Amino acid sequence: MQNLERYLKPDLYCESLDDLDLKKLYHDGYRLLLIDVDNTLASHGSFEADDYAQRAIKRARDIGFDCRIVSNAGHRRIKSYAESLRMPYTALANKPSVRAILDACADSGIQPKQSVMVGDQILTDVMSAHRAGALAVLVRPRARQEAVNVRFKRLIERWLFRHFKLGGTTDSPEYQNQNED
Ligand SMILES: [Mg+2]
Repeated sequence: MQNLERYLKPDLYCESLDDLDLKKLYHDGYRLLLIDVDNTLASHGSFEADDYAQRAIKRARDIGFDCRIVSNAGHRRIKSYAESLRMPYTALANKPSVRAILDACADSGIQPKQSVMVGDQILTDVMSAHRAGALAVLVRPRARQEAVNVRFKRLIERWLFRHFKLGGTTDSPEYQNQNED
């Protein structure tokens, strides 16, 4: 069970990107925001960022974060989506592999321990963040309609979610313990 927590329990959980306390994360030394596309920034299948995504990325950039997309989706769509936000990106990232996260960190010159990976899936986004040594932030998925393979993963995630008793943001005890001054 300890390994389950180590790899799969997010450091933070947010209902929405609007609720993510980016100022606090920046204050605590985080400088790179790696972010998933489908069901995190975007509704599933988007080619272009909407107001919600534009607002989240602007807020992060204004605070000082280097922002990059790390998505498992295909190159053509993610390229188009990333261009609408003028963001560097990695498509076909193959999360929970850590390669794309480590490459993005190396490319930005920022260490994984100063990086935050934000995504909507425990078994890909959270797991890859932990394996890379980045902070793992889980957000509630934006869309209800999802592909069959994702729906199956959601069943497992719902169990993990209850097991970890998730809730809270940077006020959560897990986060506070990790980032005490
Ligand atoms: Mg996603």
